[in-house]
Amino acid sequence: MKPNLGATKGRGKTRLSRLDVTLPASGIFRAGAREGIALSPTLSYLVAYMSTSKIPVTLIRGDGIGPEIADAGIEILEAAGARIEWIPVEAGLCLIEKCGQGITPEGMATLAKYKIALKGPTTTPVGGGHKSINVTIRKALDLFVNVRPIKSIPGVETPFKKVDMIIVRENIEDTYGGIEHQQSPDLAQGLRLITRSGSLRCARYAFEMAKREGRKKVTCVHKANIMKLTDGLFLDSFREVAKDYSTIESNDIIVDNCCMQMVSRPQQFDVLVLPNLFGDIVSDLGAGLVGGLGVASGANIGEAGAIFEPVHGSAPDIAGKGLANPTAFLFSACVMLRHMGLIELGNRVEQAIFKTLANVATRTKDLGGTLGTKEYTKAVIANLGA
Ligand code: NAD
Repeated sequence: MKPNLGATKGRGKTRLSRLDVTLPASGIFRAGAREGIALSPTLSYLVAYMSTSKIPVTLIRGDGIGPEIADAGIEILEAAGARIEWIPVEAGLCLIEKCGQGITPEGMATLAKYKIALKGPTTTPVGGGHKSINVTIRKALDLFVNVRPIKSIPGVETPFKKVDMIIVRENIEDTYGGIEHQQSPDLAQGLRLITRSGSLRCARYAFEMAKREGRKKVTCVHKANIMKLTDGLFLDSFREVAKDYSTIESNDIIVDNCCMQMVSRPQQFDVLVLPNLFGDIVSDLGAGLVGGLGVASGANIGEAGAIFEPVHGSAPDIAGKGLANPTAFLFSACVMLRHMGLIELGNRVEQAIFKTLANVATRTKDLGGTLGTKEYTKAVIANLGA
């Protein structure tokens, strides 16, 4: 079975398909693509949802603003009638401070058992300290792509109009192995690992998603002019996969030019596929095009499951102040619901968010409004039935 980006068919019909990983139109799972990418558990979730009172989803609240946005998100989902049993797993700096581990083996086993998780951001110290918990989780569960839709939100004015692209970031290779050596006080060295198999399955995911979503073009973003072997391998793999998709245009662009083009003519981009580090950087840039990190959602996807989480981090500068915008977390939750086959519920929550964001008076500060997290949460709930 393959991941299905988009519960609705085709592009531009609704906003919904912020990301989506499932539900073939027929409702019947089809055989997966060659690399056997992400199997969709939609049908089993639907059956569980119909036959039991609640279905389990792992919840990681995370660090910094994580608990604030997670609580807001859950309050809204519950107000919308989501019958979900939240299975809490502690992970992040909060747990390291308690027991010295970023996530316990039991926590990891819970993630693997329930397959679907909603996650707040976790803190990773800069220039030292513990290894990223995100990287650890993504690698352990082989969540090999990170899919991040970047789409203009009705009513949220930015200098960039009609932006509608999806970033597919390779999620477990590249510089994220953390293989670094301090050769001497004056010389540090890092290793960048790119594999053919990892690059092929990432490209395959991007093309399959493009096909299903009715997208027209897939662009490989790289720096193969300088990193001729590593990015060269990523680009070669992309070109190899592209041959199987004659109806989808494919091209490539050097990452620095891509950044410039994104802030001058972002409408030219449709699906972008990037190695891990560039994907991370370019997604924050993309978030800035459509309103900022407060609205950018994402999903880590693999065969073993999917973890839905906002693009943003733990925002220590505003943590605990009641200012955080929970929209990115909520959009990620909407995608998760649709991934589970709960299309109507996901769309309803999303529509309530759009309605709330369309009015500047019911926005959080990062989007030009005046509301704090709690007031915004109430405003979205009030719009649920509307
Ligand atoms: P950040 O995304 O946390 O914050 C960048 C800026 O955006 C800050 O000014 C912040 O206040 C603002 N912002 C972010 N989310 C917001 C929201 N929901 N509402 C309103 N404003 C918001 O990036 P950073 O400061 O570079 O990183 C902080 C920490 O987060 C680091 O430890 C980093 O490693 C971690 N991080 C974690 C994840 C993750 O868990 N997936 C992702 C990125 C960064």
